[in-house]
Amino acid sequence: ENRTKTRAMQPATYTLDNRRIRLLANINLLSEIRLARKLKAEGIGLYRTEFPFLIRGGFPSEDEQYFIYKGLFDKTEPGTVTTVRTLDAGGEKVIKHTDFIQEANPALGLRSIRFSLKYRQIFQAQIKAILRAAHGREKVRLMFPLISSIDEFVAGKQVMAECIRQMEQEGVPHKNDPEVGMMIELPSVLATIDEFAQLADFFAIGTNDFIQYMLGADRGNKLVAEYYIPYHPAVNRGIATIATAAAGHGTDVSVCGEMAHDPDHIPFLIGVGITTLSVDPKFLPRVQATVMETSFSRAKVYAQRLLEQTRVKDAAEVLKTGPGK
Ligand code: PEP
Ligand code: MG
Repeated sequence: ENRTKTRAMQPATYTLDNRRIRLLANINLLSEIRLARKLKAEGIGLYRTEFPFLIRGGFPSEDEQYFIYKGLFDKTEPGTVTTVRTLDAGGEKVIKHTDFIQEANPALGLRSIRFSLKYRQIFQAQIKAILRAAHGREKVRLMFPLISSIDEFVAGKQVMAECIRQMEQEGVPHKNDPEVGMMIELPSVLATIDEFAQLADFFAIGTNDFIQYMLGADRGNKLVAEYYIPYHPAVNRGIATIATAAAGHGTDVSVCGEMAHDPDHIPFLIGVGITTLSVDPKFLPRVQATVMETSFSRAKVYAQRLLEQTRVKDAAEVLKTGPGK
């Protein structure tokens, strides 16, 4: 029986042995949502909010942002999840800011959630705009990028709570109970991953940055491309540790970096227990095909073999062999 036929709008994707894998879309521009829906994404796993901040000189006001986020929720397939990531400024995404200082090491500098926590008013305006736009919507998820410590995640949640308190006082309609989650992009979170799993409503593994920071290799620098190794044993074991902790605490976890759309890496991700992949819409058909060709039971054995490896070259060998048919 073809189960996809009974759910015309939201067909689920299953492995050969019927493990359900949820495929979501990464969205940069609202115009991409059309393709995501056409290709049957089951929701939005990552909406990158930085583009309106990047394309103009100054910052979009709270009201300007409100209309952008409202557009996002309006365009999203009804009944599906929408994951909005707060500003991921800095690093390779350079934004112009009045206090902007040229940093010697932008990737290790004042970026992402660090920027938001420092420029509190910008952060609050963004959170309020998101929650106002999310008023009356279901399945809204708010996500903080580049979290490095539990303290930082708690600080982000406190800013959100303060925004909600202020909007309540002012009688501004808003959503007061979004799920609040975090990107896993820094190896520091591995040490306290169980505590994070208890605190966060969901994890999204950003493998682009996770690999960069785990291996100390700039994700965009061709000179060190040979050091940027998605199947490095430390990366493999890190991802497995996150998936295991999430499963142990019932915390939803997705992978939203480039690894999630790579047919060479999907069997490993499924094998360690990942059941949600979030990818650029154009990759959805290929990812669907890869999932449908993957056997979960084989992927588990294969992932175990990859996790046993301690050398990059041995991991490369296992990867080349693949999970088998
Ligand atoms: C990542 O780091 O993998 C990620 C999805 O975020 P971005 O590519 O926007 O840094
Ligand atoms: Mg990232």
